[in-house]
Amino acid sequence: MKKWLSFFFLLVLVCTSAFGLAQDLRVDFYNMGKADAMLITTPDGSHILIDAGTNKGGKMLTERFKKEGIQTIDLMLITHFDKDHVGGADKILEEFSVSQVIIPDYFKESKQYDQFIKALDNSPQTTVTKMPAKKTLSFAYGDASLLLSAAQETFYGVDEENDFSIAARLTYGDTRFLFTGDAEAPRQRELLAEGDVACNVLKVPYHGNVVDASEAFLSACHPEIAFIPDSDEEPAHPFVVELLENMGTDVHSAQDGDLVVLSDGKSVRIG
Ligand SMILES: [Zn+2]
Repeated sequence: MKKWLSFFFLLVLVCTSAFGLAQDLRVDFYNMGKADAMLITTPDGSHILIDAGTNKGGKMLTERFKKEGIQTIDLMLITHFDKDHVGGADKILEEFSVSQVIIPDYFKESKQYDQFIKALDNSPQTTVTKMPAKKTLSFAYGDASLLLSAAQETFYGVDEENDFSIAARLTYGDTRFLFTGDAEAPRQRELLAEGDVACNVLKVPYHGNVVDASEAFLSACHPEIAFIPDSDEEPAHPFVVELLENMGTDVHSAQDGDLVVLSDGKSVRIG
């Protein structure tokens, strides 16, 4: 009997190392039109929300999370303060217990930003961490790890806030996900210089707009799967879509609906 038991455990061990980790990591890329919101669910059950869409998107996320029985958001990263990223964050803070919020270190004059700050003031249980230029932070959730990196500079030009986008690199076993906010050319060049942008799954920066670093950046990322949060009215630039498709990437637009990607630590697949 004992021999059989040892054999069974050996088999489990061999299968796990050959076919991946025991449990899947899941990333939901939500269709919010030209707005970002992605939920990472780690194998240990932690929930990490990257951006919260527009005001309207926040309501949609709230209804959805409630239906799915989600009560706690362990970490909410707001990549930057444009309304298509921060707009729904106040709603999330009002409706859920959010343990930690991470934001870039600048402020914006906008209604959505003010609503977000007010909601943070009303959430004393939430820890707020600002990431100044060049700051990096790392988190571990069981076998999954998340590395955040802030922009390198404190000024990119008047009204050039997209380049303040905090980037997130998620690693689970051998698989990598890269989230890029609305990084434009200067920020994409910074990420290239930092290295480590090769990934299995890419949230395409800046809603699929083309910038003069697009070719170098997307080629270095070389993802198997890419998600572009664009809309019918403002679709991704064909150059970006074609560049990705020509390198064999499975390209998904928000116009096609939500996308779920699962990782078993060895490979990624559409859920
Ligand atoms: Zn945006």
